[in-house]
Amino acid sequence: MNFTQQLSHWVHNARIQRVAVFAFMLLYAVSPVPEFWIAQLNYIALYSLVVLGLVLLTGIGGLTSFGQAAFVGIGAYTTAYLTTQMGWSPWLTLFVGIGLTIVSALLVGWITLRMSGHYLPLATIAWALSLYYLMGNMDALGKYDGILSIPALTLFGWEISSGRSFFVLAWSVVLLAAFALLNLLDSRTGRAIRAMRSSVLMAEAMGVDTLQHKVGIFLIAAVFASISGWLLAHFQHSVNPSPFGLKMGIEYMFMVVLGGAGFVWGAIGGAVATKLLEDWLQVLLPKLIGTSGSYEVIVFGIVLVLVLKYLPDGMWSLVGKYLPKPARKEDWHSAPVLPERTKPAKGDVVLEVTNIRKQFGGLVAVNDINFSIQAGQIVGLIGPNGAGKSTTFNLVTGVLGLTSGSVKFRGEVISGLPSREIARRGMSRTFQHVKMIPEMTVLENVALGAQLRGHDNAVKSMLRLDRAEEQCLMREAARQLERIGMGHAMHELAGNLAMGPQRLLEIARALCSDPALLLLDEPAAGLRHKEKQALIQVLRQLQSEGMSILLVEHDMDLVMDVTDHIVVMEFGTKLMDGTPEEVQQSPKVRAAYLGMEH
Ligand code: ADP
Ligand code: MG
Repeated sequence: MNFTQQLSHWVHNARIQRVAVFAFMLLYAVSPVPEFWIAQLNYIALYSLVVLGLVLLTGIGGLTSFGQAAFVGIGAYTTAYLTTQMGWSPWLTLFVGIGLTIVSALLVGWITLRMSGHYLPLATIAWALSLYYLMGNMDALGKYDGILSIPALTLFGWEISSGRSFFVLAWSVVLLAAFALLNLLDSRTGRAIRAMRSSVLMAEAMGVDTLQHKVGIFLIAAVFASISGWLLAHFQHSVNPSPFGLKMGIEYMFMVVLGGAGFVWGAIGGAVATKLLEDWLQVLLPKLIGTSGSYEVIVFGIVLVLVLKYLPDGMWSLVGKYLPKPARKEDWHSAPVLPERTKPAKGDVVLEVTNIRKQFGGLVAVNDINFSIQAGQIVGLIGPNGAGKSTTFNLVTGVLGLTSGSVKFRGEVISGLPSREIARRGMSRTFQHVKMIPEMTVLENVALGAQLRGHDNAVKSMLRLDRAEEQCLMREAARQLERIGMGHAMHELAGNLAMGPQRLLEIARALCSDPALLLLDEPAAGLRHKEKQALIQVLRQLQSEGMSILLVEHDMDLVMDVTDHIVVMEFGTKLMDGTPEEVQQSPKVRAAYLGMEH
């Protein structure tokens, strides 16, 4: 390795980057920076911690909360009350505060996270307001005057009373939180959260319990906020309700949007920019307007609208693209192979669909359909548009509930189970409209299929203790990509793929779950001739490997080419089923298709 290669190796090494950031922080603390700038950065650290939680919750998870300031309040008031009134050690109250935060976040989360659209932000506003009035009206908490004389933190007998010592503590916490978040995002749980944001349907089909993940990120964001509140109380030595109200909750949201909601380092950038902008406006605006007041809120509103319109990914999107992006190291080659489930023997009935029916109001979309699939068979499901194919598909995979009838998979009745439970039993699917995560690599997208084959949880991931399992998952993803001839594209961003490779990616992802039955929904839709040939190649190969497949497809040449058996539907009912030859020769089928063409 020559010097430039060595240098580039260092620049790209995540561990070296982190040590460098930490060292820079310490250097700043001991450098002769004026106390004013230390104090400013102390506040920025406290903000950053809250905003880091919002990066996970809003930027990555897509859930909007204006109630984070309330969780800061819980952390601050818990330690304020217990240290001043009960004489408890702040190190103990930290955990009491976190405990209280978890209980209240669980409560608020379980109620509100089932809500969709605008209900969640509204519910968090209600939560923020009620907690604010609670803090302001409780005698024990000093009403709107708050609690004074909160002691400074001590660590090994050393009092963290100066701005500089607090700086080191607060920024250490922020950096640890940022590193933990970066670790989490680059893990099995991180992929699940991203998948949930892009499509709940897809995430559940990959076995992700999306409600559980929503509650999980809500908890993590709340705990970050609570720790920020604990630090704040011991930094200011006093608390009162005003920094924990709705205005501050909105300001945190402003910071995350300004910085770049999807970026961990954007959180700190957003906090810095907001604090500086706020200070500057507080000096400037009274001069311009002539009276004092919180007019900066108006400017914030205008900036927010402009940022959302012209820079939707925030400031970090301008900076981030110039930073070196490390390619994923191929460190999985010697990882152990994941265990596989026992597969049905050739000829066993894998899927048995009995009289399944789906009514949407008066419309019978699927009318008492029967068919079965034996291990090693490729069964085609065809019919004109609106025949009920996709609905049948959704009934089998658990996306829709049955009106009546039953579905048996490998001898077990699975009707009524949620789709993630059906996935767990070995049924895996692709989507008619490709559902992937464009900003992740092909390999990471495919690894999403192996969700259920890993077990390491979010805490393990944050502490980076999940690497052994992660290597197994990556090895499996790489193996499946090579299996379908896409090994060369594994490090590309999924969003850069053409339609054909995108559909193959979905097949590799489904294979990654080690399925006993594969369901493909129109895999040839939108493919060019060459891409279609590649798909046929993959299907033939899977057939020769003994995979059982249910194939919904419009392309008749492809269906006739690869299937062993075909079920024809029309207006929700089964017109006939048989071998490709029988179906091609059937006058009924011809009439149905001719009817459609007229
Ligand atoms: P195909 O996939 O064969 O083109 P679908 O299964 O999508 O057909 O649709 C079958 C029928 O059910 C169509 O008439 C469609 O309009 C209707 N349908 C499908 N989904 C719904 C729904 N969620 N609500 C009401 N009607 C639906
Ligand atoms: Mg359809």
